[in-house]
Amino acid sequence: MTLLLSLIVASGEANATVNIVTSTQDLAALATAVGGSDVKVDYIARGDLDPHFVDAKPSYMVKLAQADLVLAVGMEMEVGWMPSLLTGARNPKVAQGSAGYLDLSSTVKKIEVPSGSIDRSRGDLHPEGNPHYWLDPENGRLMARAIAAKLTALDSAHSADYAKNLATFESTLTTKEAGWAAKMAPLKGSNVIGYHSTFNYFCHVYGMNVIGFVEPKPGIPPTPAHTLEIGQAGKAAGVKWIFVEPYKDPKDAGPIASMTGAKVLAMPTSVGAETTIKTYFDLFDALVSRVAG
Ligand SMILES: [Zn+2]
Repeated sequence: MTLLLSLIVASGEANATVNIVTSTQDLAALATAVGGSDVKVDYIARGDLDPHFVDAKPSYMVKLAQADLVLAVGMEMEVGWMPSLLTGARNPKVAQGSAGYLDLSSTVKKIEVPSGSIDRSRGDLHPEGNPHYWLDPENGRLMARAIAAKLTALDSAHSADYAKNLATFESTLTTKEAGWAAKMAPLKGSNVIGYHSTFNYFCHVYGMNVIGFVEPKPGIPPTPAHTLEIGQAGKAAGVKWIFVEPYKDPKDAGPIASMTGAKVLAMPTSVGAETTIKTYFDLFDALVSRVAG
């Protein structure tokens, strides 16, 4: 009886799936790639919506209440919504600072990190630097590695699966990166304008210069004076495109497009931003084909 019971318990543990809830669909795609059949993955912020602003619905608290692991972008991306959702979820396993909460910003290469102390009086959305780091594919690699390490720590019974899934992800990424780099190479040195600073990592990776933004500051709506200033700067720089997120109004970029002759380009920001973008690789395939296709 004791033997039978211990066998049941052991097999129950080996078959248990890790219940992961991610803040964004990008993190869900990475968690699915690394976790495979040993995890169940759900997310909170839909990829076609602004991840800075999420309505804290009770259904999200229910998801978090049942989670074994929460993955977050960090760098204050979720500061307006995740803390209250976690409080409502009352799940100590995934509280911030616990083993079941992984802030992936701790593992990536960041840009635009302010030197010196953080100044929130500027009122912008990026006080700790630019949090849109998943749009650098090498950060995707670092994130996948951190997720694999965390899953291995929480669920050592499946460590071989996580290692194998990570190796597959990394080898596909390496192959894909060579293709993206080849397609993007002719665009090196191109000048672009962003609406928000979402695509700064993507542009940084492929040598495109972001010379300004439709927004005067991250999260601050456009003003006529700023629009005029950016339009003039964009004209002088010969900007090729104005990149607009799915959840921003492309009409706001119209006056700058008229002044500069730049094309307004709708760009996906995340997995799930468009129905065909289901994986992390799909996201870069779509971005690269949009600008270099
Ligand atoms: Zn932002």
